[in-house]
Amino acid sequence: MVTAAGCGKRQPEKSADVVVIGGGGAGLAAAVSAAENGASVILIEKASFLGGNTLLSGGAFNAVDPERQKNVPMNDALLKELKSYLEMDESEFGDFGPTLATLKQQIRDYLNSGDTSVLFDSVELHTIQTYLGGKRTDQNGYTITGDFELVRTMCSRALDAIKWLESHGLKVDDKITTVLGALWPRTHSTGGGKAIIDTLSSAAKKLGVEIMLETKGTELIVENGRVVGVKAQKADGSELILRANKGVVLATGGFGANPQMRAEYNTYWPELPLDMPTTNSPHATGDGIVMAKAVGADLVGMGFIQLMPSAHPKNGSLFSGVWGSAETQVFVNKDGKRFVNEYAERDVLAKAALEQKDALFFIICDQKIVGDRDISNMLEKGDVVKADTLEELAQKLGINVENFVAEIAKYNSYVDKQEDPDFHKPNFGNYKIDTPPFYATPRSPAVHHTMGGVKIDTLARVINTEGKAIPGLYAAGEVTGGIHAGNRLGGNALADIIVFGRIAGESAAKGR
Ligand SMILES: Cc1cc2nc3c(=O)[nH]c(=O)nc-3n(C[C@H](O)[C@H](O)[C@H](O)COP(=O)(O)OP(=O)(O)OC[C@H]3O[C@@H](n4cnc5c(N)ncnc54)[C@H](O)[C@@H]3O)c2cc1C
Repeated sequence: MVTAAGCGKRQPEKSADVVVIGGGGAGLAAAVSAAENGASVILIEKASFLGGNTLLSGGAFNAVDPERQKNVPMNDALLKELKSYLEMDESEFGDFGPTLATLKQQIRDYLNSGDTSVLFDSVELHTIQTYLGGKRTDQNGYTITGDFELVRTMCSRALDAIKWLESHGLKVDDKITTVLGALWPRTHSTGGGKAIIDTLSSAAKKLGVEIMLETKGTELIVENGRVVGVKAQKADGSELILRANKGVVLATGGFGANPQMRAEYNTYWPELPLDMPTTNSPHATGDGIVMAKAVGADLVGMGFIQLMPSAHPKNGSLFSGVWGSAETQVFVNKDGKRFVNEYAERDVLAKAALEQKDALFFIICDQKIVGDRDISNMLEKGDVVKADTLEELAQKLGINVENFVAEIAKYNSYVDKQEDPDFHKPNFGNYKIDTPPFYATPRSPAVHHTMGGVKIDTLARVINTEGKAIPGLYAAGEVTGGIHAGNRLGGNALADIIVFGRIAGESAAKGR
């Protein structure tokens, strides 16, 4: 039971078995999981509302899900992509080598089965794609890869995490897509970040979790080498101490909204201007990383920061536009030309976008994507431009009309051939831009995700600079590093935060 004591003191104290710092997806998952494992829980959140970046998220959640994926047809382009894994050499994959070997056997079995009409997928493919998508070399020549055990844990438990959310009332769509930068059709639509936060916060309340808003964790309390609580500050400036009998879970998110911290740690991009817009909540300021470092936590991959290629050019917002699943997206620059394989990883897309004039490009789509959505607000604001013909669309955008019309015709011919000789896009989904009216959404890169953070093990215990678990301290979500390495796959963050949020809550409750 949560107890309160010392109310007359300058720093009142409260205590519970588990104290969670941060009320986004990871923190709420940890709180619910700790309570499910019999612990009393206090969750503190510095904002006046729950949710963090999770609340803003599109709800795209990657998981290998044979039941839902059986409705996804295989196509020639994806088949070609799948076969390319057979050419890879497991001896170059380090800890991931045995997983690649298993994957290659699965692919051979699939090809030999004589039926390739339904999409192939496996936890091994998700694991290898996460590894390859994350393996990156920074400006200093340092190459990072994901931690095999953490990646494997995320990929193998992602579906169970979805089922757990469903058991708490979340509605998950049966349609599978590919969110931008996910590399394979295994993205679930969970109804947006708000649905996840609403689901978890109501579960937390039902389980008796005490939620304290406008309460900012400022410093971890260590006694005899063990983290036993956290100092916190209320919005009115008053301070309090939260004691944890069993464990403290750090779930404070990343540092995408902290320009100084971004600039201090960035080693991946030649430069990250302080005024670069971000898609993030203003509360993503890296507090947990600073607190954990102060008690000896090791940090991993801090230099690797993800730019979302397709953000609003002025304010960095993500959802002020129209587009479909990644295979249907077509990017053109101000010359009216495509410039990249739109199905690639986000850092590849962002790098290519930054090389275009004014770092600006347009996502083009047609009426089939917009359907019956009401986008009048976006049209009014100029966030989306609409025209009855491709010529008119180019004129309205002020881009080269001839190039643009020819480029779309060429792209449509690539869809027919299922082959893109220009940029080798590996999936088109048979989507052509051919049904008026046509739409363009102006886009530019913005800071989106910080892959680096506190080092954890598969029990979500925080690891110190000597490679040992710090007793009493656990972490989950974007505050951690080591999973996404140098580039996170789209849709993998929600899998990460729910899988490891649950683990952290259980570990703290059990004192593992
Ligand atoms: C616009 C947008 C769209 C996205 N869409 C997707 C998507 O569709 N799919 C996907 O996989 N990923 C997506 N992501 C990434 C993903 O949403 C995040 O990585 C993930 O939600 C982070 O979850 P978290 O719980 O670790 O952190 P958060 O959700 O950011 O929660 C951290 C919480 O901790 C609080 N906090 C911070 N410091 C303190 C402190 N000192 N004391 C107390 N509280 C504190 C914050 O206020 C916040 O509420 C998106 C991100 C953004 C910004």
